[in-house]
Amino acid sequence: MENLNTYLQELIQKHRSNTEGTTANYIPELARVATDKFAMAIVTCDGTIYQAGDVEVPFTLQSTSKPFVYAMALEEHGREFMRSRVGVEPSGEAFNSIVELEKQTHRPYNPMINSGAIAVSSFIKDQKGLSREKRVLDLFGAYTNHQLAIDEKVFQSEKQTAHRNRSIAHLLRHFDVIGDDIDESLDLYFKQCSILVNTIDLALMAGTLANNGVQPQTKKIIVKPDYIADVLSLMLTCGMYDSAGEWAYTVGLPAKSGVSGGLLAVVPGKMGIAAYSPLIDQQGHSIRGVLAIKELVKKYKLSMFRSTHN
Ligand code: GLU
Repeated sequence: MENLNTYLQELIQKHRSNTEGTTANYIPELARVATDKFAMAIVTCDGTIYQAGDVEVPFTLQSTSKPFVYAMALEEHGREFMRSRVGVEPSGEAFNSIVELEKQTHRPYNPMINSGAIAVSSFIKDQKGLSREKRVLDLFGAYTNHQLAIDEKVFQSEKQTAHRNRSIAHLLRHFDVIGDDIDESLDLYFKQCSILVNTIDLALMAGTLANNGVQPQTKKIIVKPDYIADVLSLMLTCGMYDSAGEWAYTVGLPAKSGVSGGLLAVVPGKMGIAAYSPLIDQQGHSIRGVLAIKELVKKYKLSMFRSTHN
């Protein structure tokens, strides 16, 4: 792995010239970010960091926040409650689909799509004098080992234009999946999506999941190991939305993308991988990030389904 920094650099050079895709133009603040930025980082379970490209450039978590807030809700409410409110099946629909509630139960299909994630956020409440917002910020700060902040402009921009997410939340209220604090729940969801990180932060988050919930550098337990499989299995089957099947087939790793261009993948027991580049495809995935991670995984045979013993 000594040459990993050089290899990551090669991937950045190779794919930076790809200008396919668009920024997430349905959120005005995200539409105007610099499109040439591209970074990759890897954090191994022993805490070693490999990196290349624009790793210091900040971006908002967007949907890469979803598995982590789901893990927090699982710890607080337990598996039984969470499964009674949010399913564990891939929806095969786009991330912001309005028709993504199960026919019989009216639960959202899974916590990785917007309906499920908005429901999950509604279960995170103020606790012991700490606001739900502060609690979520502190959680991500524990993953990244430094205090994080919310990008107020992105938060406001998303909040003001979130007609679709608002209608999903009201549908969830209609079916009693969430309670009356609809606006507060949506605010928390928009805020978790607006938390600023860089690519190394994202790799540390992925590295913590890879390391069974223990932050690879601080060695603190951030997620109870018992819940790691819940989160990783959902990332594998639902993390890449309506291209989750293609991702599992070609990459074979639990992953999560965000419309800001962040992408993280987890090699259980080995490493967390992160990429950032803001030009996204129709499904909302970073185009350069997907290409680069696919190549990295192929070269080092990192797929969970590929035996390394031959
Ligand atoms: N905040 C975004 C939304 O709700 C997140 C979508 C994503 O990153 O996939 O539309």
